[in-house]
Formats: sequence, structure tokens, C-alpha cells
Amino acid sequence: MKAIGFYETGGPEVLKEIDLPEPMPSRNEITVRLGFTSVNNLDILMRSGGTKMNFSLPHIPGTDVSGIVERVGEGVTGIQEGDSVVSSTVYGCGTCRQCLSGNEVLCKSWKVLGMHVWGSYAEVVKMPSFMAIKPPKRYSKEELGCMPLSLSVSWRALKTAAKAEEGETAIIFGASGNSGLFSLMLAKAMGLKTIAVTRSEKKKEALKKAGANHVIKYDPSENGAMPEKVMELTGGEGAEIIIDPIGNPISSSIAMLRHSGRIVTFGTSANSESSLQIKKFYWKSASLIGVHNASAKELSEAFAFAEKNGIKPIISTKLPMQQAAEAHRLFSSPETFGKILLEHKWK
Ligand SMILES: [Zn+2]
Repeated sequence: MKAIGFYETGGPEVLKEIDLPEPMPSRNEITVRLGFTSVNNLDILMRSGGTKMNFSLPHIPGTDVSGIVERVGEGVTGIQEGDSVVSSTVYGCGTCRQCLSGNEVLCKSWKVLGMHVWGSYAEVVKMPSFMAIKPPKRYSKEELGCMPLSLSVSWRALKTAAKAEEGETAIIFGASGNSGLFSLMLAKAMGLKTIAVTRSEKKKEALKKAGANHVIKYDPSENGAMPEKVMELTGGEGAEIIIDPIGNPISSSIAMLRHSGRIVTFGTSANSESSLQIKKFYWKSASLIGVHNASAKELSEAFAFAEKNGIKPIISTKLPMQQAAEAHRLFSSPETFGKILLEHKWK
């Protein structure tokens, strides 16, 4: 089978076409022949060495799986060869209390497709069968190819972690990014008031169209007057929920948080470390919650909610997998708005 991967970390140019033997499923596993996948920030971090983790080379990145079940291993039930599926992104040991209760994302031995094992930039991907779900029929193959990771982690952040309730206000950092856009659309559909935060003046209008009640242009590295702006917009109360996929300084987030508010964090593109004024934190009865990925159950719930509420991904560009390097360049461009789709089309 064909795949795009890399033998050394570096810029987009390290991505190369690689011929690999097709994986075969073991017990309770399936393989999926990919139609589409999309570029996620994790792919960029893996390719550039930005995760600072050790992994063997060559590596095949890619986390979003959408395609057709190719082979089914022994013991698999509920999924058959030829089924159209999407998959969740994380699996655990399969035997601990968390894994057995459908919280594989909380397993201490969690592994992610395209991070710890080869991912969706290969024509065929192997995974435990429980990760695959049959997606709602209203979505096109293209749409399905760019939804799993961003949709499910945004759902986990808002629903499982922040326990968002109708009428609350959510600040969404990195709102024009992959999970930022899904968080914005989900929050709106959940009946929240939304304050979208972007570094780009040009993206303000598009964010309003995507459902933002207010848009604030703000760069965390500039240490601007963001908390004051939020207080103005919320009548001096602050926001109940902060969705932070970029790593805004925690003290700044606490300053714009309403009493008993929740900060959910799952990214570090702006900051990877942050100091915390402990007294301000507990005086506000604030919560700081970390999330990564989402369970197969959450992926299923997220798709059902998205379908019911007419949520569709915003797609910026579609490229063949052979142009993955160009796709990575576009991903890092400040002009890009929406998902970058990659199509497996090898003949
Ligand atoms: Zn486990």
C-alpha cells in the first residue's frame, strides 16, 4: 500500500511517499481503507518533532479516519467488511477499569492513531474494532474525512469536561482553528453565548457567520486587554466556560472567568507553561480541566448531535495525499480558514 510519511523530522518537505505492506488485523481489530483524512495540528507536531516525544521512524501521521472496512479480525462483532465507518482517535490497554467502562481516553496507556502508531496518511489503517462507528448518512465522504478528531474533542471539552448548559457564555480561543470552529458551532447549537477569539482581523466576519455572538482579536503573546473586553461583553460577570486549544496564560483566563467557571485546555500553540495565582483560582471556585482526544462513545454522541443540529465542517481546501507537504504548508498559513482535506487517490 501507499502512504505518506517521514524518515526524519523537519519541515513539510520531509514528507515522502512510502511503500508499505498492508496491515492485517489481529483479534478484535479491523483494517479500514481510507477515502479521506484531514490535516490536524498533531500531524504538524509529529512531522516537525514538536511533540518532544520519542518515536520510531519512518512514521506515518494522520488521525482522522473515514473509509471502508477492508478486513475484520477474529472476535469482531457489529462491523463487517465493506461497512462505511469513521473512527475515534484513541485506544487504551483494553483491560483496565477505564477501558472496560468506555473511558479508554482515560486509560494511562492511551495511544493515538498517527501519534503512537501509524495513522491515516496510509491507504489502510489498523485499529481496535470498538473505535469504528457508522456515521450519519447526511454527511459526504469529504465531510466525514475531516470531522472525527476536531468534532469529538470539541464535544468532550464542552459536554464532558465543561458540562456546558444552555444560556452560559463560552469564550473560545483559537476559534478559527480546527477544534475552535467545531467548538464554536457546537456551543452555538447547545444554546451558549459565544465569544470567539482570533489572532486575525480578517477572520472576524467568517467567525460571526460560523455562529460567534462576539469576536475579539487577541494575540496571547501581546498580553493585551482581553479580560477587560470580556468583562465589557458580559456585563462585568465574565464567562462560565473557556475553551482553550492554544494555551492562553491561566492567570489571564481566570481574570475573565465567571465565579465557579470552568477552563478546558487541550493545546499549547501559544504557551506550553503558565503560572497560576492559586488564591484567585480557589476564591473563584474555578475549575481547570485538561482533555485530549475523545472516546468512541463521545464520537458517536458528537456525530448524533451534529447531525441533529445541522452542523457541517468548514472545508478550506482538498488535495490529493501526494500533496501532503503542500497541505501542511497551507495548514500553517494565517490565511487558511477551515479544514484541509486529503484524498487517498493513488491510481
Ligand atoms: Zn486501559
